[in-house]
Amino acid sequence: MFKTGCCGSGSNAETNDGYEVVRIEKAKGNCALCEGYAERHQSKPVAVMSCDGACLRGEISRQAANILCHSLAPEKTVRICLGGAFTKDTGQRGLVRDSPRLIALEGCPVNCASRMMAGVIDGLTPEIVQSYKLCDIDKKLFGIDEMPPEEIQALARTVAEKIAATL
Ligand code: SF4
Repeated sequence: MFKTGCCGSGSNAETNDGYEVVRIEKAKGNCALCEGYAERHQSKPVAVMSCDGACLRGEISRQAANILCHSLAPEKTVRICLGGAFTKDTGQRGLVRDSPRLIALEGCPVNCASRMMAGVIDGLTPEIVQSYKLCDIDKKLFGIDEMPPEEIQALARTVAEKIAATL
């Protein structure tokens, strides 16, 4: 859930009935390029968001989303800016809200992308793709510095190709 209100000292979040209630300052700035992008891609049938995290699995998800949207299926998909869609109710959030098909690539069971967006759009039910299950990744690795960039890219492409086959 998402609401404004007074929060506890030292933290901007409260826990309440299984939800963490957060308070986000409204954006003062605007990105005209991003808004133009959102407008141009409104008619795409599939919106793709991803954990944009800093670990290896998040990076594989992020790159897979980029490969899918910009190389394998650019005519069908639009790549969502998760931070923009989550923190302000403008073009990116509209793409997530209105897309006929919404895919969330998740890098781990935290499911950050889908949970974040469900927090700001009531009733949102994206298709969750656990990208780490679509490629063969050494379970002991965590950081992006623990695998060569070419191998990360190859795993991301594997994930992207499997998703593209479902479009
Ligand atoms: S949410 Fe999970 S996959 Fe994403 S960066 Fe954090 S640990 Fe990695």
